[in-house]
Amino acid sequence: MNLVLFGPPAAGKGTQAKRLVAERQLIQLSTGDMLRAAIKSGSELGQKVEGIIKAGDLVSDEIVIALIEDQLDSNPGAAGFIFDGFPRTVAQAEALDSVLAKRDESVDSVIRLKVDDGSILGRIEKRFLEQGRKDDNPEVFKHRLATYNKQTAPLLPYYSAQGKLTEVDGMADIETVAASISEVLDRQASPKGEPKKGFFARLFGG
Ligand code: AMP
Repeated sequence: MNLVLFGPPAAGKGTQAKRLVAERQLIQLSTGDMLRAAIKSGSELGQKVEGIIKAGDLVSDEIVIALIEDQLDSNPGAAGFIFDGFPRTVAQAEALDSVLAKRDESVDSVIRLKVDDGSILGRIEKRFLEQGRKDDNPEVFKHRLATYNKQTAPLLPYYSAQGKLTEVDGMADIETVAASISEVLDRQASPKGEPKKGFFARLFGG
């Protein structure tokens, strides 16, 4: 199962991805986390991307695609991946399709956490105070949101045309969002999208 968690910054993708890791043994691939780790380590890559991330712009497609390919190679035999914050451009989505195809795999599901811009601005002020991420300061965050609307939102028709997109209300509380995501994944995992049969129905063939 390869799942793309989709939504603007601060939609709750990371929180939900971590729950799915624990519940479904999937591996979370967050390009944002990988880039922040590179900055922290002081690597050449980190130095290259630091200014871009601080400004709230997107790093180049080549860089993030290489990071993702590297992680796919490092985790052979994984039950599946949750792509969190990737892809963010149509070029990245096309690259993901082709790197998965090379491994006889594909994106199975794209779940969009639907949130409204006004409310996430409030959320982000809280995260900024708690975590102090420089790109969460209100001015940069507004730019990240604009970048999402301009460069990332066009991916919605891309996945919708492939019949892979499901929307979930991301404004609900964490537990409710998690339950909605689970429902989507269970539905997709069972044949023909039918709800899973209960114990007695399975036993007696009902
Ligand atoms: P995130 O933690 O996913 O919000 O990412 C933080 C920042 O890392 C973004 O604002 C971008 O500067 C950069 N970044 C993360 N993922 C990507 C991506 N897939 N493509 C380009 N830039 C990215």
